[in-house]
Amino acid sequence: MKISWKNILLWSLPIIVITVFIWQGFLTSTNNDINNNIANSRMTYGRFLEYLDMGWVKRVDIYDNGHTAIVEAIGPELGNRIQKIRVELPANAPELITKLRNQNIDLDAHPNKNTSAVWSLIGNLFFPLLLVSGLALLFRRSGSSNGGPGQAMAFGKSKALFQMEVKTGIVFEDVAGIDEAKEEFQEVVTFLKQPESFTAVGAKIPKGVLLIGPPGTGKTLLAKAIAGEANVPFFSISGSEFVEMFVGVGASRVRDLFKKAKENAPCIVFIDEIDAVGRQRGTGIGGGNDEREQTLNQLLTEMDGFEGNTGIIVIAATNRADILDSALLRPGRFDRQVSVNVPDFKGRLAILQVHAKNKKIDKNISLSIIARRTPGFSGADLANLLNESAILAARKRKETITLQEIDASIDRVVAGMEGTPLVDSKSKRLIAYHEIGHAIIGTLLKEHEPVQKVTLIPRGQARGLTWFTPSDDQTLISRAQILSRIIGALGGRAAEEVVFGDAEVTTGASNDLQQVTSMARQMVTKFGMSDIGPLCLENETANPFLGRNMSTNMEYSDEIATKIDNQVKQIIEKCHLEAVKIIKENRVIIDYLVDLLIEKETIDGKEFKDIIKGYTNIPVKNGFSPTS
Ligand code: ADP
Ligand code: MG
Ligand code: ZN
Repeated sequence: MKISWKNILLWSLPIIVITVFIWQGFLTSTNNDINNNIANSRMTYGRFLEYLDMGWVKRVDIYDNGHTAIVEAIGPELGNRIQKIRVELPANAPELITKLRNQNIDLDAHPNKNTSAVWSLIGNLFFPLLLVSGLALLFRRSGSSNGGPGQAMAFGKSKALFQMEVKTGIVFEDVAGIDEAKEEFQEVVTFLKQPESFTAVGAKIPKGVLLIGPPGTGKTLLAKAIAGEANVPFFSISGSEFVEMFVGVGASRVRDLFKKAKENAPCIVFIDEIDAVGRQRGTGIGGGNDEREQTLNQLLTEMDGFEGNTGIIVIAATNRADILDSALLRPGRFDRQVSVNVPDFKGRLAILQVHAKNKKIDKNISLSIIARRTPGFSGADLANLLNESAILAARKRKETITLQEIDASIDRVVAGMEGTPLVDSKSKRLIAYHEIGHAIIGTLLKEHEPVQKVTLIPRGQARGLTWFTPSDDQTLISRAQILSRIIGALGGRAAEEVVFGDAEVTTGASNDLQQVTSMARQMVTKFGMSDIGPLCLENETANPFLGRNMSTNMEYSDEIATKIDNQVKQIIEKCHLEAVKIIKENRVIIDYLVDLLIEKETIDGKEFKDIIKGYTNIPVKNGFSPTS
C-alpha cells in the first residue's frame, strides 16, 4: 500500500470528527475561562474569611459576575505551598472587597465573556463543513488514479492499477542466460528506436509478444530491459489485478492502460500473468466468468484498435501458455511467442556472473562450481542464493562470501531450513542406516550420480539427507541410469529391512517410494522401456483448469492397463531385490559408516568414497538431487 496524503487525510477524518465532538462538548461546558484556572479544592466563604484574617490569602480572582472566586493562598495548613481554592461567594458581600483592599491582596475580576456562544457557533458550522468536505474528498479520491485499499467506492471509474516507469534502468546486460530470447527482442528494440527504418519498407512490427516460461526465469526482467534498451517508458499491470469484484472494472482498466500508453508512445506495455485473464473462454468447468471474459474482450479490442506502427508494443508473460485463449494468439495480437526456460549450466554461470558483480566472493570460489551444483535453479533462485550467502557471510562478520555460506544457502534453497540434530537414539540409528543405504548404492552403482554428502542434520521435512552431484547433461537419461536411480532410491528402505527386520521398517521411505513408482511407471508408459515395448501409452493433455499434468488421457484397453501395472511391479521388485542384495553384501562397511555418520552427523562425498575404496575393489566414481 502506498501512503499518500489523501490516504492519511481519509483515515484521519473520523479522528478529526471525534475530536471536534469532544472539543465542542468541552467548550460548551466551560462557561468561561474559570476552568482554565484549575482549582481542585473548594472551601466555604466563612473559611475563606478566616484565611483572610490569618493573612494566608495572596490573590483573588473573581469570576461569574462575582459569584465565584479562585483564591490563591499559602499557609502552614496548606503545606506552605500556594494553593488555588474555589470559593462560592454570597450574592452580596461588600465587606469582602474592602477587606481585600485593606490587606493589599491582588484582586482581579474577570468579566463573563460568554465564549461558549461563539464556540458553539463555530463548532456547529465547522462540523457540517468538515463532513461535506470529507465526503467530497472521498469521492474525488475514488475517481482519481491512485491505487490503495478500500476501493469499494471506486467501481464507477476505474483506478488504474498499472505502474509506469519512465526509465526502467535495466539493460540487456543485466539479463543473462537467455540469449535466444534476447535476440528475438533485439529487433523490437530497433523498432522502438528507429521505427522509420521499418515503416519505410512497409514492414509491420508485431504488436504483441508473448513470453512463456516458468516463474523466476527473468520474464519481467527481460521486458524491462527492452524498455531500458530502447529508452521508452514501461507500463506494467498484472493479469490478476484485472480480475476484480465488480464487473466491468477489468475492462475499464484495460481501456485506461491503453489510453495512457497511447499518450506516451513509443512505449512498452507489459501484462504479467496474462493467463489470469486470457484463459480459454467458454470452458464450462468452474462456471463462466463474465468479468474475465469482458476484460479479455477489451484487451483484444484494444490490441486490434491500434495500428501496427503506433509504437506500442505489448509484451505479455505467462507460465501457462497451454491454457491461453486461442484468440490471443491470432495474428495481429500475440502472434510472436518467445519462450524462456530454466537455465542450463552455461546460463546459470552467466546469471551468477551478473549477480556476483556487486558481491565480494572469495577468490578461491569459481562460479562454475556453484553453477554445476544448482541444476533446476531459475535466475531468481540464483540471485536469491547469492544474496542469502552474502547475508550469511555478513552475519558471521566475514569479509568475503566463502564456499561455506554458498553451500549452506544451496542446501537451504533445495531442501528447506536446517533443523536441530536428533540425539543418539534408536530412531537416529535407523535414519542413519536409511541414508547410508541410499549413499552406498549410489556409490557402488556405476550409472548412479556420485554422492556429494550424507547428513543426519534434518532439513525441511527430511530427517536425514543424501545428496548426489548431478551429471552435466540431464536431458537424455538412459535406461540403466533410471534403473540405478530406482535401486538407489529403494536403498533406504532396503537397509531398514535388512538391519532392523520387516516389522521395524518406517514411514520414512514414503517419499522414496513415490519417486520410485513414478519413475517405474514412466519407464513403462512414456519411455517404452519395458516388455510392453516402445509404446507411448500416456498422453498428457492440457486441461485449462486442472493444470498440465493433472489429467492424463488413457488410450489403452483394460488389458494393457493390467500389463502396465504388472510391468511397473516387476521393475520395482527387481530393483528392490538388487538393493537388498547390495546392502547385505556390504553390511560390514555399512555398519562402520553408520557409526561414523552418527558421530560426525555429516560425511562428505570424498571421504565416503575413500572409505568405500578401502573395503571393496569395485571401481568408484567421483562424487544434487538429495534423497531423504
Ligand atoms: P519472472 O518474471 O520470469 O517470474 P523475474 O524477471 O521477476 O522473473 O526475475 C526475478 C529476479 O530474478 C530478477 O529481478 C533477477 O534479479 C533474477 N533473474 C531472473 N532471471 C534472470 C536472468 N536471466 N538474468 C539475470 N537475473 C535474473
Ligand atoms: Mg514476473
Ligand atoms: Zn530415503
